[in-house]
Parts: sequence; structure tokens; C-alpha cells
Amino acid sequence: MPVLTRSAELFEKAKKFIPGGVNSPVRAFKSVGGTPIYMAKGQGAYMTDVDGNTYLDYVGSWGPFILGSMHPRLTAAIEYTLRNIGTSFGTPIELEIEIAELLCKVVPSLEMVRMVNSGTEATMSAVRLARGYTGKDKIIKFEGCYHGHGDSFLIKAGSGVLTLGAPDSPGVTKGTANDTLNATYNDIESVKVLVNENKGEIAAIIIEPVAGNTGVIPAKKEFLVALRELCDQEGIVLIFDEVMCGFRVALGGAQEYYGVTPDLTTMGKIIGGGLPVGAFGGKREIMQNVAPLGAVYQAGTLSGNPLALTAGLETLKILIEENPYPELERKAAFLEAGFKANMDKLGLNYTQNRVGSMACLFFTETPVVDYKSAITADSAKYGKYFHSMLDQGIYLAPSQFEAMFTSFVHTDADLEKTVAANYNALVAAHQ
Ligand code: PMP
Repeated sequence: MPVLTRSAELFEKAKKFIPGGVNSPVRAFKSVGGTPIYMAKGQGAYMTDVDGNTYLDYVGSWGPFILGSMHPRLTAAIEYTLRNIGTSFGTPIELEIEIAELLCKVVPSLEMVRMVNSGTEATMSAVRLARGYTGKDKIIKFEGCYHGHGDSFLIKAGSGVLTLGAPDSPGVTKGTANDTLNATYNDIESVKVLVNENKGEIAAIIIEPVAGNTGVIPAKKEFLVALRELCDQEGIVLIFDEVMCGFRVALGGAQEYYGVTPDLTTMGKIIGGGLPVGAFGGKREIMQNVAPLGAVYQAGTLSGNPLALTAGLETLKILIEENPYPELERKAAFLEAGFKANMDKLGLNYTQNRVGSMACLFFTETPVVDYKSAITADSAKYGKYFHSMLDQGIYLAPSQFEAMFTSFVHTDADLEKTVAANYNALVAAHQ
């Protein structure tokens, strides 16, 4: 069992100056109990905490680390930019064109793209653009999906708000809340009802095409196809929020994986390679409404930041050159099969959902296809499971409702260790 003395000391101090001691609620151990662990160093698939304990990492900075932490090519590229280019200009730089061109090449829906600094900025901007373009106010999202902390999205949201049990946030005005309608994931009828009840008023439908903030829930292909058709019929902008699944489930994201092309796409995480980056893009006809070309305002002092773009560009280049996706699939499938074999031995039958290297073991026997089925999972059992894995040196997300990310740098030995630990943790979850 790791000794966490220094982490506990730091957390006590942090609480005095930082709300809840953390700069993002998902980092707190609210639903699993205990106190957050302060990390000191990341290396590949491992991280070492301030007390000297080392963990095998399946959070990967919540998604960006598809190549692990501190990939040598990434650190070299960042160092080059730092020494030879600079940290920021507030003017255009050539790197911006390079990453925009590459993104438009690999992501099917992109004809033009705007870089921002986070996933939240990307989704907020995409929705404003859809509203400006259509002249309509309302949006439809899906219960349990998380699109960052923009006001419009904090209605029945997933991720940290779901973990904390408060999926609607105080501080969001009634007016904003009224413009956000929630449908049921994987249920096209629930969307049609809302569209019919709000005829001609819906600007956009925004969806995580692989939901990763209610655990992991794959979209059914026919559901996404039906959404596409509905949006075409009704003149609604279809937005795929690929902040998490983009470049993760396939190089071209879920839209490549499912073969369904949205009008706009939001991105983040992996395209920043661990630095703060987001982006939104899509059809030229829509994107040309963004300022200064069009009237929909969107801006950012540090947008297109050289260091962040360097990390993102280098990550994309490695993904293109090395095509890690078959290997990621093999690794994640190995874990899934290993966990299944452990459950068989223990007479357990919990649901596992997985799309490529995004996975979730739900402590429920109910198939998880939407928010309602996801919340049948037993968070208390997950908490015990989480702590047992942690005690065995494996760092999972401190919440039942988050994804487990396998990276390209998890070795077969790492995976075997994880499967062995999973057996013990499943036992611990039932004690
Ligand atoms: N959309 C999705 C699908 C996400 O998973 C996240 C973050 N987990 C966001 C948007 C928000 O991104 P950020 O935290 O960078 O603002």
C-alpha cells in the first residue's frame, strides 16, 4: 500500500488557497474517497508521486497521452520551439497553417479549422457559430454527455458534475437552461420528439459520438446515421464533440470510425499532446461565418500558441507515421478479455464497454447504452475497486463515470500486471 504522507500534506495546504484543493473537480477523490495524489513526474505509461510511489497510468491526463507522457519526439520538438521560435507572439505563425492543413486532411468533416485553448472553448464556440449560422437559439444535447463547462452544457451533464451528483450547475441562468434540450443517447425517437416540439427552433445537435463522460458508451451506428438524416431534413447543424474520442478511436476520430460526417467537429486533448489546445472546424460554408471573415465573434490571446501547436503537430505526425491504432486495439482488447476471464472465475458478470483504447468496466450487470443504464453502476464498489488497483500501483480515473485509456506505450508486461491486479481488485470490491 503506497505511503501518501506528502500528498496528504500538500492537499491540506492546497485547500486553503484553491477551491477543494484542485484546479479541476475530476481530480478530487470525492466519489472514491481518500485524498488526491500529487504527482511529481511522468514518464511513458508511468507516473511517480511526491512520496516516491510509481503508478501505471490509465488516465493519461484524461485522454491526451495516447503516446504516453514525455514522448522523446514530443519533448525534443517542444524544446526546439522554445529555444528557436518563442512562447507566444499574438501574430500569425506558420505552424498554425501546418496544423490546420493536417487536421483538414485527416478529419473527414474539416474544411476549415480554428484553434483555441481548451475543449470547453471549442464547444462553446461551435455552438455560438451554429446559432449565428442558423439564426436559431436552441440546442439538443444528450443526457450524461459532457461538453466542457460552458453554461449551455451544464444541464444533465456527465464527467465531474455527474460524479459529484449535481449534473445541473447553479449559476446557469434559466434562459440558458431553457435553450438546452436533453435527449436520450442512442434513442433517435427521443430526439425526434424534441425536434417536433421545437419545430424550426433548433440550431444544433451536439453529441459525443463515443460517449466518454458517463463511463464509455459507444453510439450505435444506425443512431448516428439517423441523427445525420434528421439534421439534414430539419436544417440543424450536427456537431460531433470529438474532444475525447478524436484521434483516439481512429486517426480521423469517431466520424471515420462510424463513417458518419458531422457539419462541425470539436477537438482537444490529443491534438495538444498534453499542452492546452482545442479546435473547432467543419464545413467551409459554416466556418466562413467566424470572425474576422464572418460576424460570429470568437477570439483568443494565446490561441495558436507555438508550444502547444508544436506538441499537437508532433503528436499527429507520430500517429500518422506509426499508425498505433491496430496495436491500441490489441492492447485494449487484451485487457477486456483478461477482465472478463477474471470475472468468469469469480462468478461476476459486469458490463464492459469499449471502443478501441477507450474502455469502462461498469459495476452493473445492466447493458450500458445511455445515462439511465450507466447510473445503475455501483459507485461504492467502484471506489473499493479503484483503491485496490491504486494499492497495487495502478492509477485509474477516480470515478466510475470516466474512461480507462490505454496508450501506445503500455507494454505487454504492464497489461498482464493490470489483469492480475484487476482480479484482486474485483475481490476487494466485494469485501
Ligand atoms: N468535450 C468532451 C467530450 C470532453 O471529454 C471534455 C473534457 N473532458 C471537454 C469537452 C472539455 O474539454 P476541456 O476540459 O479541455 O475544456
